[in-house]
Amino acid sequence: MTDDRVQDEVEREYDRDIDDPVTQEKADHYIEMGGLHCIYCGSSHIFDMGCEWDGMMMYQSIHCYVCEHDWTENYLLIEIDLPDTNQHFEYDGQLGLEEVPYV
Ligand SMILES: [Zn+2]
Repeated sequence: MTDDRVQDEVEREYDRDIDDPVTQEKADHYIEMGGLHCIYCGSSHIFDMGCEWDGMMMYQSIHCYVCEHDWTENYLLIEIDLPDTNQHFEYDGQLGLEEVPYV
């Protein structure tokens, strides 16, 4: 299958133009869906290229095999679960960690 045929198939399957610009609306949808499809073309043929940590942030690199775009998902470390001691902590943004009831 040629790249053009793959692109046509993706555009039919996801009902979108592969060359449409990424908008805030598309970005919100991408995040709400958990990043399962390419933010550019909508394809599910995306690949996790690995991640890097920097302080509280994690940067997840993603590549799309259909449109060949790359992007990064940025995660913030804000909660910790400790199953051995049945504890759950949420970052309070100030002096340290505050214990909250385990759900
Ligand atoms: Zn794509």
